[in-house]
Amino acid sequence: MSNGAGQGGASASGSTQIPAEICIIGGGLAGSEAAWQAARRGVRVRLYEMKPQKFSPAHHSPLLAELVCSNSLRAAGTETAVGLLKEEMRRLGSLIMTAAEATRVPAGRSLAVDRGAFAAFITAKLEQEPRISILREEVEDFEPDRLTIIATGPLTSDALAAALGRLTGQEHLHFYDAIAPIVFADSLDLNKIFRASRYGAGHDYLNCPLDEAEYERFYRALMSARQVPLRDFEEPRYFEGCLPIEVMAARGYQTLLYGPMKPVGLTDPRTGKQPFAVVQLRAENREGTLYNLVGFQTKLAHPEQKRVFRLIPGLEQAEFARLGSIHRNTFIRSPGLLSPYLNFYRCPRLFLAGQISGVEGYVESAAMGLLAGLNAARLGRGEPLVTPPSATAMGALIHHLTNTAAKDFQPMNVNFGLFPPLEQRLAKKQRGAAYAARALKALDEWTDKLTERAA
Ligand SMILES: Cc1cc2nc3c(=O)[nH]c(=O)nc-3n(C[C@H](O)[C@H](O)[C@H](O)COP(=O)(O)OP(=O)(O)OC[C@H]3O[C@@H](n4cnc5c(N)ncnc54)[C@H](O)[C@@H]3O)c2cc1C
Repeated sequence: MSNGAGQGGASASGSTQIPAEICIIGGGLAGSEAAWQAARRGVRVRLYEMKPQKFSPAHHSPLLAELVCSNSLRAAGTETAVGLLKEEMRRLGSLIMTAAEATRVPAGRSLAVDRGAFAAFITAKLEQEPRISILREEVEDFEPDRLTIIATGPLTSDALAAALGRLTGQEHLHFYDAIAPIVFADSLDLNKIFRASRYGAGHDYLNCPLDEAEYERFYRALMSARQVPLRDFEEPRYFEGCLPIEVMAARGYQTLLYGPMKPVGLTDPRTGKQPFAVVQLRAENREGTLYNLVGFQTKLAHPEQKRVFRLIPGLEQAEFARLGSIHRNTFIRSPGLLSPYLNFYRCPRLFLAGQISGVEGYVESAAMGLLAGLNAARLGRGEPLVTPPSATAMGALIHHLTNTAAKDFQPMNVNFGLFPPLEQRLAKKQRGAAYAARALKALDEWTDKLTERAA
């Protein structure tokens, strides 16, 4: 490791005389939270941050925990999945959440912060914590046998990304995210959609058939929809295999009919005929609560995506768990590589946290930092590793990182589609509160047990 962090180890029994030390690479949202959690548990931390020596193209402030874009941590209420995640983090003593409350600005139902004050609050807390040393240098490599958390984010420096690629294999390391929208299954109109795989090979897909007039209306709307401009570091280097839908459409009126909207091999049981065009939806999770629009990765502006994709028969009332996007994002395809404790199966002393572990978003990244910090500290102290119950928002994210089919894996914001279904059927308006009540009860029982064991 270029930082040469010296480190004491703990024996499995925890009876070591040398206090454990954790090396954390990256002082963003995840790394800052991880450092705080580990230090609170009595473990020494060396936190490496390459700013201000070196800045990623999106980072500008020398402070830790910089919010690179929006100053919003999204919805505040616990009846939303991200609001619930924040409440879980508060209950686990999150520094990011304490900073957010202390630097909050008015933003309706959202939790938004004064970004400068927010980052300054976190930087000061970490600088004042005697167990944490902050080293301002880029780390270019790591030693898998050292107790380490990598939390270098979506714009990880090239040298470290290459080192990570050598560990995981290049096929597990991604630099771009080409994301297709995901819809909630229960918002689809199944009277218009039929279930089938192409050429009668099963019933795995939901198919939205379009006649010629519907296709033309959709095509015109797509071609006139507003796109999100690329940032200067996001060159449009698309792979032919995952071109944005609007880029494909711009090649000609019929191009989509030979690409993601091809109807060949599909027969609509209601007409007995092959439709003019088809949009296929593929299950995103084993529970079948979420479906992605196959081949519909897009750079359209978010309100435009809703307007255009709701023109597809069966999606008129679709609720989107995630909208499409294409952006620079270094992340690991974590299923099969990462354990539910956020360490590598192959290198148990090496943890990942934040966006690089395969989650998306400020809050989700910080939440994974919290868990990685907690578990790295436990490993350092010779204690068993822990993972939150699956009913919690954190547990749902961990489930996504560790249980999604690896070939379909894409980073995700937290959403209720990742949670185990509710036991009772409820009206949509009541579901958020029911998910939250179940999650917070499970979280409190879990933390009570952890405290009892520690006592
Ligand atoms: C341009 C852009 C805009 C985004 N906008 C939003 C948004 O509006 N809302 C939202 O919820 N999410 C957004 N995200 C997604 C994501 O959640 C955030 O990037 C979030 O900050 C990720 O947290 P993190 O801790 O994983 O990484 P970061 O917060 O990026 O922290 C990583 C830290 O590691 C440091 N680092 C990198 N490499 C090294 C190295 N080799 N050695 C030492 N230090 C290193 C970096 O300087 C940085 O400080 C955005 C992402 C990008 C790229």
